[in-house]
Amino acid sequence: MTKEIVVLGAGMVGVCTALALRQRGHAVVLVDRRMPGRETSYGNAGIIQREAVQPYAFPREWMAALRVITRQGNDVHYHPAALASLLPALARYWRESAPDRYAATVTAYSALIRHCLSEHERLISLAGAQDLVRKSGWLQAYRSASAFDQAARAATEVARQHGLDHRILDRAGITAAEPAWRGPMAGAIHWRDPWTITDPGELVSRYAALFAKQGGIFRHGDATTLKQQENGWTVATEDGPVNAAHAVIALGPWASALTQPFGYRFPLFVKRGYHRHYAVESMPAMPLLDVENGFMLAPMKRGLRLTTGAEFAHHDAAPTPVQLRNAERHARELVHLGAAVEDTPWLGARPCVADMRPVVGRAPRHRGLWFNFGHGHQGFTLGPVTARLLAELMDEDQPFVDPGPYDPIRFGA
Ligand SMILES: Cc1cc2nc3c(=O)[nH]c(=O)nc-3n(C[C@H](O)[C@H](O)[C@H](O)COP(=O)(O)OP(=O)(O)OC[C@H]3O[C@@H](n4cnc5c(N)ncnc54)[C@H](O)[C@@H]3O)c2cc1C
Repeated sequence: MTKEIVVLGAGMVGVCTALALRQRGHAVVLVDRRMPGRETSYGNAGIIQREAVQPYAFPREWMAALRVITRQGNDVHYHPAALASLLPALARYWRESAPDRYAATVTAYSALIRHCLSEHERLISLAGAQDLVRKSGWLQAYRSASAFDQAARAATEVARQHGLDHRILDRAGITAAEPAWRGPMAGAIHWRDPWTITDPGELVSRYAALFAKQGGIFRHGDATTLKQQENGWTVATEDGPVNAAHAVIALGPWASALTQPFGYRFPLFVKRGYHRHYAVESMPAMPLLDVENGFMLAPMKRGLRLTTGAEFAHHDAAPTPVQLRNAERHARELVHLGAAVEDTPWLGARPCVADMRPVVGRAPRHRGLWFNFGHGHQGFTLGPVTARLLAELMDEDQPFVDPGPYDPIRFGA
């Protein structure tokens, strides 16, 4: 039976959700205050991370945790003023990163990740977006020989367990694989399965255009106007109220703005991240992660995009791009960086859940309310995957992966 559904949030997750539901014949209105794909899904590193079977855990080894706390590395930064309010979610994140719990999360997470390429491939083909896609993988690179040796052993084991295609490159191997990279690298893991996108926001726009072509409706509106009424839900838009039997919250890092007023308290927090584009003489074909210095260099249409690691701060605190400044200095050792393309860096926020799993499924206490958010470091990768899962749950079809690990009920009703 056709359902009337409003999807709130038009990032990668919301657009894919709207599309999956529309493709199942439902009447779908997608609502966002901006155009599709202009927030977090615009500013990321653009990698469809088939290799990301292990989500980022909170470091449990004492030395690694100390390095974070004392802000010695460039991969993690934090605002001391934000710590008190972040503490409950971070404490839960630490607990969920304990080896036994983390192992269960990896099992669940990898079951989603393994479908990312096939789900994107279908949409890329329908949306005619092949021109944005590169299939040469990416490099996880190390400066110190001991860190590289250790990482290479771990990567080989992960690749064996999860059937991933990778190769181990020494310094000469890096240059042979990608002549644009120079500098003091001991070696790299070349993950060969992942696809990279040269304009992540544009990919979301193309998926949104496909949604419109297939009969979906997009409206500008404020999701926080969502109200429950006798027969379902209503939300105010610039073109008047939209009424629907079902509402899906897909607001990424803004999800709490809507879940909290309805009485749901999830251990959500953000890891902020920055990017900036630079002109380069010779654009590399594949991204490189400088692991020890906590930044990624990703070739994009606008230039070489430098993206930073995690900043623990209030979502709306003023930008403090110290990681970007440090990263830029180190990036100049790897590639001849020209002028910055933008005057100010872009700032976005990864929507994180303490147990490192997205929240996908039915709201326990509100009929017709559904959740799909909290994709952390891999929302660009997982958008079409959890969209399919949610659509199958809403239609009461047999889900293609076990939905249990993502069920909102795991945090209580
Ligand atoms: C630096 C960086 C690098 C990253 N690299 C990668 C990567 O390489 N691969 C990967 O898979 N992931 C990556 N990520 C993570 C990924 O970008 C996110 O997980 C993903 O974009 C989240 O998508 P989303 O649709 O949930 O959120 P968003 O894209 O943020 O979408 C949320 C939408 O909700 C809308 N919205 C919010 N409030 C309201 C309101 N009140 N009313 C109406 N609309 C509203 C916003 O306008 C927005 O369009 C990276 C993130 C960062 C920050």
